Amino acid sequence: MPLVIMKFGGSSLSDASKMKLVASRIIAKKNIGNKNKVVVVVSAPGDVTDELLEMANKITSNPPGREIDVLLATGEMISISLLAMTINSIGEKAVSLTGPQAGILADINYTRARVKKINPKKINSLLSKNNIVIVAGFQALNSKGDITTLGRGGSDLTAVVLAAKLKADLCEIYSDVEGVYTTDPRLVKDAKKLEYISYDEMLEMAGSGAQVLQSRSVEVAKKFCVEIHARSTFSKNHGTIITNEKKIRRKKMEEPLISGITFDKNQIKFTIVDLPDIPGVAAKIFGSLAKIGINVDMIIQSAAVNKKNDISFTVSGRKEVKKMQRELDKIALEFKASQVVCDEHVAKISIVGIGMKSNAGVAGKMFEIIYKNGINIEMISTSEIKISCIVNEMNMVKAVKELHKGFGLSKREAV
Ligand code: ASP
Ligand code: MG
Repeated sequence: MPLVIMKFGGSSLSDASKMKLVASRIIAKKNIGNKNKVVVVVSAPGDVTDELLEMANKITSNPPGREIDVLLATGEMISISLLAMTINSIGEKAVSLTGPQAGILADINYTRARVKKINPKKINSLLSKNNIVIVAGFQALNSKGDITTLGRGGSDLTAVVLAAKLKADLCEIYSDVEGVYTTDPRLVKDAKKLEYISYDEMLEMAGSGAQVLQSRSVEVAKKFCVEIHARSTFSKNHGTIITNEKKIRRKKMEEPLISGITFDKNQIKFTIVDLPDIPGVAAKIFGSLAKIGINVDMIIQSAAVNKKNDISFTVSGRKEVKKMQRELDKIALEFKASQVVCDEHVAKISIVGIGMKSNAGVAGKMFEIIYKNGINIEMISTSEIKISCIVNEMNMVKAVKELHKGFGLSKREAV
C-alpha cells in the first residue's frame, strides 16, 4: 500500500471549520484508489507559535532555550489532538503523536535542534493497524530526554525527514498558497505558478525572500531525493513539484532563462569607508558581527587605491541597527576608517534560474532592464543560478514588475 506524508501549515488549522476541511482531505487521500497509508504532520494553529513567544517575552527577555522549547512544543500539540478528534468524529481511526512519541531524535541544541535519527516503530505499528497517524511537527527528543524544537518553520523539516525515513511515495506540503510562483502574486498580478522547480532554485528563492518552505527542509529533501508537492489546502489544483534538476530538464524542451524573481524589502546596507588594505580587516569585521549574532547577506570589498579600500555589506532585517552601528563604530576607530555609512532604505531583488548556467548574458539583460527604468544599482552579487541587486527600496516594486515582464515570465503559459 503506498505511503503518503501530508503536512499542513498553521493557517490551514486556525479554526474548527478549517480542521474539518483538513480532516476531509486526509480521509479522501486515505481512501482513494487502492487506499493509502497516511502520516500527517502539522504546525501549531494560526499564529500560536508567535503568541507563545510573546508570552515568554513578557516574563523575561532572555528565557532559557530548554523552557522555550517546552513552551513552543505545546502549539503543535494543540493541532495533533484537535485534528485526531476531528477525524475520529467523522468515523476514521486517527492517533496523535508528539515528536518524541513519533521517535524523532535530535541533538542537544535547544530552539534549533538538528534531527539525528528516527525510530519509526510506533508510527509503523499504528499504520499497520489502519490508523491515520498525526505527528506534531517542529519537535523532537534529545539525548537528555528533553523536548527540543527544530527552528522556525520546522514542521516542513519533520515532514521531509519522515518521508525520507519511511520511504514515502508522496510528500505533500499544504499551505494557504497554491505553490511556488514566478514572483509574489500579491505584488505582480500576472505571476505564474511554476509546475516544477529544482531544489537548488528553491533554496536560492527561499534564501532571498520567497517564503514557501523552510530552507533546511529543502536541503534535506535534496540530500535524500524526497520530491515535494507544495500545494494549497483550499484548492484541488495541482501545486508545484520541488525535485531534482535532471528530472526537470527531461520534462522541458527548452530551459527558460530564469524561473523566478524574489525580493526582500527588509535590507539594510552598511559601508565602512577608507579601511587600511592589510590582512585581517574583513576577518575582524565579520567575526565581530557573527559574535553578536548578526547574519550578513551580501558583501563587497572594493579594490585598494592608495592602500585603502571600502567594505559594504547588507543584512536582512532592520531590528538590530543600533547594535550593529555600535560594533562597527568600534571597528572603524580601531582601524582608523574615515566613516561608517548606514542606509536603511534599500531592498534586494534577485533573479533565480537553472537556465542561467547554460546562457550567457542573463546578468547583462537584468542590468539593462533596471537601467532602462532609471533605477540605480547599488550592489551586485551572483551565484551559479542567482543574480541579486541592491536598489533603493522606493524602486523595488517597479524593478520586480519590469524584470518579470522583461524576462517573459508574465506571458508564459505552462511553466
Ligand atoms: N509552529 C512553528 C513555527 O511557527 C513550526 C512551523 O510552523 O513549521 O515556526
Ligand atoms: Mg510554518
